[in-house]
Amino acid sequence: MHVVIVGGGLVGAAAAVTAQQAGYRVTLLERGASPLSTPEQAPWDLRISSVHEKNRHWLQRLGVWSRVESSKHLAYDALSVTTRDGLSVTFTAAEVDQPQLGVMVENNALIRAMWHYVAEHSQVELRSDTAVQSYDLSGQQLHFATGEALSYDLLIGADGANSAVARAAGIGMRGWDYDMRCLLAIVETEKPVAPATWEIFREQGPYALLPLDQHRACLIDYRSEQEWRSADEAAIAEGLEQTFAPHIGSFELQRHGSFPLRRQRALRYIDTRGVVLIGDAAHSIHPLAGQGVNLGFADVQELFEQLAQKPLDQALRGYERKQMAVNQQMMRVMDAIHVGFRSEHLAARAAVALGLTAVSKLAPLRKQIIRAAMGDSQI
Ligand SMILES: Cc1cc2nc3c(=O)[nH]c(=O)nc-3n(C[C@H](O)[C@H](O)[C@H](O)COP(=O)(O)OP(=O)(O)OC[C@H]3O[C@@H](n4cnc5c(N)ncnc54)[C@H](O)[C@@H]3O)c2cc1C
Repeated sequence: MHVVIVGGGLVGAAAAVTAQQAGYRVTLLERGASPLSTPEQAPWDLRISSVHEKNRHWLQRLGVWSRVESSKHLAYDALSVTTRDGLSVTFTAAEVDQPQLGVMVENNALIRAMWHYVAEHSQVELRSDTAVQSYDLSGQQLHFATGEALSYDLLIGADGANSAVARAAGIGMRGWDYDMRCLLAIVETEKPVAPATWEIFREQGPYALLPLDQHRACLIDYRSEQEWRSADEAAIAEGLEQTFAPHIGSFELQRHGSFPLRRQRALRYIDTRGVVLIGDAAHSIHPLAGQGVNLGFADVQELFEQLAQKPLDQALRGYERKQMAVNQQMMRVMDAIHVGFRSEHLAARAAVALGLTAVSKLAPLRKQIIRAAMGDSQI
């Protein structure tokens, strides 16, 4: 079987590794530059993911985790959440007798590790700086501007939230903008940073810290689209200082950038002409709980498990049935957190407070939540 993957980001590259290991012939098409041409020692990029333990173990079994530069990932062993009313709950890996909950990893470093892996295998063809000119789904062929045609048995759309594969297959999307922007900033701190991630909710939106190494962190500040869009450099530096200095002391801002927040889901994940969507092409969620790429990796695992057991059309249907339910459940949880923790409404705030009080006191519930954060089960 020839598997063609459009999009060589985190999820598409993981699909290429998995498809190669399943014995398929693979072509990976990426419209951007090859990640193999990025220098390894470049400073931390802004795009960072928290990958939970279950997925990290999977990446380890695939043989890619050991290839990620050690300076571009950090294990974290605790996470805490504080409500608008100042109620706080902390979860630790130690409570479930584990050394860590997951890892913070630079997206580029992980993508590079996966591209390095597939570049070593002759049954995978990597094509960067490549754009598909047209999709002939009935003939199961892609056409390039050079006049070349590429046939496939399975076309995987891993081309992110604005998926050309989904459009070509006529797959509709449903979604909305949260009217919020997420500002990410890499900072160097004077005091050591604990290997713990935290998030604090306030009226405008939450703010959070992801630890990167002993004196480096990624600060995340969610505010209204208008507030961050209109802020100049000085206002951004001042906003970060006011928000984070009380928690982490003085720091030096190294780089920052902001992303609009959008929730979107494909109305179908598959097309009967041998097309399947995975990762953000199928679903993009609020990054609040750092689950986007974890869901994408789960898509890859489920898709190839189904393909190993069933004929192609049945496998695609099985994949869609399972992952659509899982992903929509996570989207609902994210929306409930987004609304519940920000709400002005007394009832919503009371519900959050009662929930957190219960969580902080009930050991079995705490353990269940910690295992869910590690990817072992769903909430
Ligand atoms: C601010 C922010 C913070 C986040 N933090 C986390 C986190 O902590 N943990 C987590 O799990 N998730 C997080 N996410 C979500 C996570 O980044 C995404 O879910 C993940 O990157 C999706 O990967 P993907 O490969 O599906 O899509 P993408 O990362 O969008 O990759 C798509 C790839 O396809 C390529 N492409 C696009 N169109 C074409 C085309 N027509 N032809 C060829 N190639 C194409 C692109 O160049 C790109 O390389 C965060 C997201 C945001 C915005």
